[in-house]
Amino acid sequence: MFSATVLWLLLAPAAVSAAPLTALTDCLTSSAVPQLLTTNSKYALAIKPFNLRLPFTPAAVAQPTTVAQVQAAIACGVAQNFTVTPKSGGHSYASHGLGGENGHLMVDMKYWTNVTVDSSTQIATIGVGSRLGNVAQALYSQGGRAISHGTCPGVGIGGHVAGGGYGYISHTQGLAMDNLVGAQMVLANGTVATLSATENPDLFWAIRGAGASFGIITYYKFQTFAAPNSNIVYSYNIQFTAANYLALQNYANTTMPAEMNMRMFITSGGLQLEGIYYGSQSAFQAAISPILSQVGNPYGSTSTMGWIQGLSNYAYMSLTTPIDYDIFSKSLMTVAVTPAAAAAFVAYYQNTARTVSRDWYLIIDLHGGPTSAISKVPMDSTSYAHRNALFKYEFYDRVDSGSYPSTGFSFLNGWVASLVNARKKRGQKADGCKVPTTTFGMYINYADSSLTADQAHNSYWLTHYARLSAIKKSVDPNQVFSNPQAINSK
Ligand SMILES: Cc1cc2nc3c(=O)[nH]c(=O)nc-3n(C[C@H](O)[C@H](O)[C@H](O)COP(=O)(O)OP(=O)(O)OC[C@H]3O[C@@H](n4cnc5c(N)ncnc54)[C@H](O)[C@@H]3O)c2cc1C
Repeated sequence: MFSATVLWLLLAPAAVSAAPLTALTDCLTSSAVPQLLTTNSKYALAIKPFNLRLPFTPAAVAQPTTVAQVQAAIACGVAQNFTVTPKSGGHSYASHGLGGENGHLMVDMKYWTNVTVDSSTQIATIGVGSRLGNVAQALYSQGGRAISHGTCPGVGIGGHVAGGGYGYISHTQGLAMDNLVGAQMVLANGTVATLSATENPDLFWAIRGAGASFGIITYYKFQTFAAPNSNIVYSYNIQFTAANYLALQNYANTTMPAEMNMRMFITSGGLQLEGIYYGSQSAFQAAISPILSQVGNPYGSTSTMGWIQGLSNYAYMSLTTPIDYDIFSKSLMTVAVTPAAAAAFVAYYQNTARTVSRDWYLIIDLHGGPTSAISKVPMDSTSYAHRNALFKYEFYDRVDSGSYPSTGFSFLNGWVASLVNARKKRGQKADGCKVPTTTFGMYINYADSSLTADQAHNSYWLTHYARLSAIKKSVDPNQVFSNPQAINSK
């Protein structure tokens, strides 16, 4: 029996041909860019994907530690005609950190892990190679500070923030990228650009939602906030019915307070309504009671935790443990789901999902609504295109050993289709034209490898795609930075 690591190495496609590869590695060597050769014992780990289903072999792996080395690495890629791909934490579901295909020059930013809080401005400068768990601990240790970010401690801040960054305090404090006040990026022509609301504002707009397409970000600057001390961590078992789903949609759209962060965690065993409320127990009870009474006054548990303890609770692991599986994942963002669509969606759960014995789950985050910090940010102020989405869905199907079955894809595709198709029927125009599929967004941070480039562009960036495309043409006309779903990819 092969271990998972050995198995993915055997499955990895063959490396690119030797001649241009030599020119590339020679260029990196003569430019004094540190690189990891295939003979190095650390090479296999550096190109190991989080998603073992999608192994890709880069042409070369650069591991710069200075801005000048990042510039030199890009110059080598351009001179030798290689697509250049930054990797930070390597957690892309579509292995986009490896390029999403074979033969890229991978620029591994793993050594960019500095996390420093300026004690006068409380602005944190964070290197892109830092992992979320380390970021949380480093910020907290510097005066009890925090930023909004996702749950999994091994995710890299580099890719996470570039696509959004949703977590257990996003309803209160916005996405990770909403805490961003600046960044440094090295562009295709080697320029080192400072990005902020006043410096290169177009690029600053673009990287907040589509940052992987425009260059190599070296560090981010975040306005931190004081980590909340009173974190009410709660969990209730409720039935996954259309009525409960619609009640929660209505809650997100009306009385759910900003301090409440909530998700539905759905498995074949049922639905857990869980999250964190930032405030007192009494305020929490007042805020949760109205929705609990509508979903059957379920049994549940609550406890009061500190900030780091609350993060650890939902990390389901130590804040430093990396994991990997053979997975297929999809996402969806919905603005308002009709009763008919909710019924079709729940029927798929009962009739199909519960018959699938793999280790799948569905997370539905109560993402938007009038009190959500995400929705309060004006729709066009960043390239993130889902400010108005009430619910955000992560469909995740995995096998812990062996390969993901080729018959598996239709399961999650079918679940998404159950909702989208039911909604389309209701939304069909009088002339018979279909409602555009872009009504349903998808989230680039849960990159779906089964989408074509066009589908990805339309679903991830909706109405913001045209502006992204124009900015991309102006700073990277030759697609030096690309992957199968990047801006202007074909
Ligand atoms: C176990 C797990 C849990 C997750 N939990 C959450 C969650 O709670 N909330 C959430 O929002 N998301 C979550 N995600 C998704 C995660 O945010 C994305 O996969 C994110 O892109 C990962 O970033 P990375 O740096 O680790 O990945 P990488 O694979 O290194 O990079 C991802 C993409 O970003 C680009 N990129 C990386 N570094 C840079 C850089 N320095 N400059 C420019 N582009 C760069 C890459 O080229 C690639 O296209 C989770 C993913 C996993 C695997």
